[in-house]
Amino acid sequence: MALHTGLFGVPELSSPEGFQEAQEKALQETEQLVQKACTTPPGPQIVMIFDQLSDALCRVADLADFVKIAHPDFAFREAAEETCRNIGTMVEKLNTNIELCQSLKQLLADKEVMDSLDPETRQVAELFMFDFEISGIHLDEEKRKRAVDLNVKILDLCNQFLIGAHLPNKIDKQILPEHIRYNFAVEGNYIQITGLHADCSDDLVREAAYKIFLYPNAEQLRCLEELLTSRNHLAQLVGYNTFAHRALQGTMARTPEKVMQFLETLSDRLFQRTLKDFEMMEGMKMKLNPQNSKLMPWDHPYYSGVLRAERYNIEPSLYCPFFSLGACMEGLNFLFNQLLGISLYAEQTEKGELWCEDVRKLAVVHENEGLLGYIYCDFYQRADKPHQDCHFTIRGGRLRKDGEYQLPVVVLMLSLPHSTKNSPTLLTPGMMENLFHEMGHAMHSMLGRTRYQHVTGTRCPTDFAEVPSILMEYFASDYRVVNQFARHFQTGQSLPKSMVSRLCESKKICAAADMQLQVFYAVLDQLYHGEHPLKRSTTEILKETQEKFYGLPYVPKTAWQLRFSHLVGYGAKYYSYLMSRAIASMVWKQCFVQNPFDRAMGERYRREMLAHGGGKEPMLMVQGMLQKSPSVEDFVDALVSDLDQDFETFFMDSE
Ligand SMILES: [Zn+2]
Repeated sequence: MALHTGLFGVPELSSPEGFQEAQEKALQETEQLVQKACTTPPGPQIVMIFDQLSDALCRVADLADFVKIAHPDFAFREAAEETCRNIGTMVEKLNTNIELCQSLKQLLADKEVMDSLDPETRQVAELFMFDFEISGIHLDEEKRKRAVDLNVKILDLCNQFLIGAHLPNKIDKQILPEHIRYNFAVEGNYIQITGLHADCSDDLVREAAYKIFLYPNAEQLRCLEELLTSRNHLAQLVGYNTFAHRALQGTMARTPEKVMQFLETLSDRLFQRTLKDFEMMEGMKMKLNPQNSKLMPWDHPYYSGVLRAERYNIEPSLYCPFFSLGACMEGLNFLFNQLLGISLYAEQTEKGELWCEDVRKLAVVHENEGLLGYIYCDFYQRADKPHQDCHFTIRGGRLRKDGEYQLPVVVLMLSLPHSTKNSPTLLTPGMMENLFHEMGHAMHSMLGRTRYQHVTGTRCPTDFAEVPSILMEYFASDYRVVNQFARHFQTGQSLPKSMVSRLCESKKICAAADMQLQVFYAVLDQLYHGEHPLKRSTTEILKETQEKFYGLPYVPKTAWQLRFSHLVGYGAKYYSYLMSRAIASMVWKQCFVQNPFDRAMGERYRREMLAHGGGKEPMLMVQGMLQKSPSVEDFVDALVSDLDQDFETFFMDSE
């Protein structure tokens, strides 16, 4: 008889040792299911068994993935890490299990049975096959072995590149002028440069940091080249032209050609606006530093910030008192209630269920359908907690064999300050927007009522995954929404409309240049993962791309690409964020801007977009929502029109 439960209510996980037990159970279940899959005739049951298999492993692996980075206790983190490794090995083994693959192949080859399946089941069957393919399962034995070796090599190179991307650069301290040394960490005769110091007000500090931090490291350069080459080899080995072609299968964009068309069109449309932004920044630099006024890449984030602050008074401390965490959560609750008939309730937790006392558990309840799932809110700062705001799937939703729906469980992780004696937790406008963003992911998880957990909620193509979260940012910037909840925590006064408008308008300052920078990164990612062998060195490609798609000069003897850690996780999909934003913008303008509380629209949004998780082709979901199929020009129009200043606000504020 257990006195208390374990993490997330999993009984085994009341101690670090429990991970071993949970993992063994999962592996046993896996073996039984593999047996079953190999002896079941072609039919929908095969897909069901594959999904059970995936569920048995993911249930433990996803949970461990979260615990290994977020648990305050090192022993738990270590045990979780070990479990992740072991399950990873098992997944690799399964992906090269020919007999298992054969059972799925038979199903996919049986046209009659396939035609009789519902679209979601068909889609999931194809997705499972796709996982096999990248392991080279359809190849002869020699090639298959090469694919396995390449996969292992790529994994190692990815880890190595990630470590290298964050490593500080060290220089002799004599090289730096004495008056700026104090900005950096001094270690004996050396100075450690750990980042770009992009927000520092001293131009010289930013310049030094830029040139030193981005100084090319030969080993990191080799690592990147090898990573790109190996990815290309693997893609070609399993039958694709380039790594990008493989990575984009199943996405909204579908092909690298389409991605480039999107990025090039966007870049053309941004060009004039970006020039203007750069001129504004240069004007400001001229004012503050007349001797050295040429605008350089290390100036962009700093001077755009100065311009924003000068043009609009958006000091976060003016806004914070209106955004207590309680008020923001009530705002979200109100919005979900109006749009979707959903309420959030604080849920009691059992002893042992949480990894930290200040975590809150929310039950997500629909007015007719009842309980939909749970969101664990890990919102507060603590030592050793990763800073990144993040959404984690802990358990995917799926229809179980007994007809019950396995409820989805997710964690939202933020880094908010604790309340103090005198005030509750207060959010800056940026934190409030992030909270809305992450809740957008959580709602995707809660409302993705897929039959299979393999495609639960956010397990959808990368370029669609940010649509629900970015859409929430549009809600968070709308006065009618903000006015529902933003109340001064002491006086109860509501946030003046002009302050909300100012905030929104301030975001448009230099926004073209900011977007142009993202276009440059995305193009670079496409070129690196495009045709191989690369025509030039990665640095030469960077230089050309920067000049063509960004506009600020390349700085000799720098290699920014060696710090581009997203090349690892997003490989050929860095454009995703821009494309998701374009869709979110279209959905906002076409469906919600008239009335952000429109229940009928909320229901349509749920039915057409959220409900399918990754179980439906993303472009079909977009078509269902917008009732047309948007073109590349539509995407670009949506992004660019968001940059237009609202003159009404402009004049209102200059009164
Ligand atoms: Zn996101």
